[in-house]
Amino acid sequence: MNLLSWFDPWHSPLCTCPPKLTFNPYTGCDHKCVYCYASSYIPHFFDCRPKKDLLPRLEREASKLNGELVSIANSSDPYPTIEAERGLTRRCLEILTRQNCQIQIITKSDIVLRDIDLLRRVPSMVAVTITTDDVEIAKILEPNAPSPPMRLKTIERLAEKGLPVAVRIDPIIPYINENPETLVRAVAQIGVRHITASTYKVKADNWQRLSLAMPKTTEKLKPLYFEKGERLGRYTYLPKALRLKLMENMARLAKKYGVKFATCREGLKGLNTATCDGSWLIRQCASKNQAQILNEAGTDKHNHRLMC
Ligand code: SF4
Repeated sequence: MNLLSWFDPWHSPLCTCPPKLTFNPYTGCDHKCVYCYASSYIPHFFDCRPKKDLLPRLEREASKLNGELVSIANSSDPYPTIEAERGLTRRCLEILTRQNCQIQIITKSDIVLRDIDLLRRVPSMVAVTITTDDVEIAKILEPNAPSPPMRLKTIERLAEKGLPVAVRIDPIIPYINENPETLVRAVAQIGVRHITASTYKVKADNWQRLSLAMPKTTEKLKPLYFEKGERLGRYTYLPKALRLKLMENMARLAKKYGVKFATCREGLKGLNTATCDGSWLIRQCASKNQAQILNEAGTDKHNHRLMC
């Protein structure tokens, strides 16, 4: 099986992502988010391990690439705890940047800061997931992930270094984080230019974890999902009218604080003001670099194509 594949999440008709390759350096993830979707289809998911023969396989597959967009990662965080020591994601980035690939990183971890130098070599962006700015709730929902203040600091550092940053406020869960205005305001103030949001979708195993972690809340959520909700693909969704209300509120907040907004797999693309996954930031970064290269003709091309 190839490491690199075209992103097509379960052939979902609700996915509006542009064409991009996807790649996970690790199988599983130790952030242990209670709402995680990937744990329903990958055995022993929270026992994070590197992909077998990761680097030689990636070397082989990447040798055919030239400038494609590669999204890292969609089924697991590319910066789990062991990455600080193993450095495998960094080695993968070295391989992909040699092929001039455009890079989209999706993470909750500050370890990404270590790789700023590599990300600045090619058009790239980072999407940081923050579900809530409430430290106590985050500890329950994402017990092993870096805290929300740490993620905000990470965003600030990335933006300071000129890397375009999007934030995923995902999932939005009624009674928990349905109106994250303080979070939207905070991320807009530190340089985030795009927000993607999505409502929580029930899978058997994530529901079980959420029920154990927040029993009172899941009692209130139960009728919304299991009586009034709808089955779409492999997930149980909130009723469409409620999803629309929640996402309209997110679109309103994004507009209020001056950032682009998109929904993810909601069937509500009419609310989107930019490409859903924030990858438009890469194109903007690339064309700005192009202009810079032209302006700085005669200077070291490799260094200058990188700055956004
Ligand atoms: S960071 Fe993502 S992949 Fe990792 S446990 Fe959380 S939701 Fe799952």
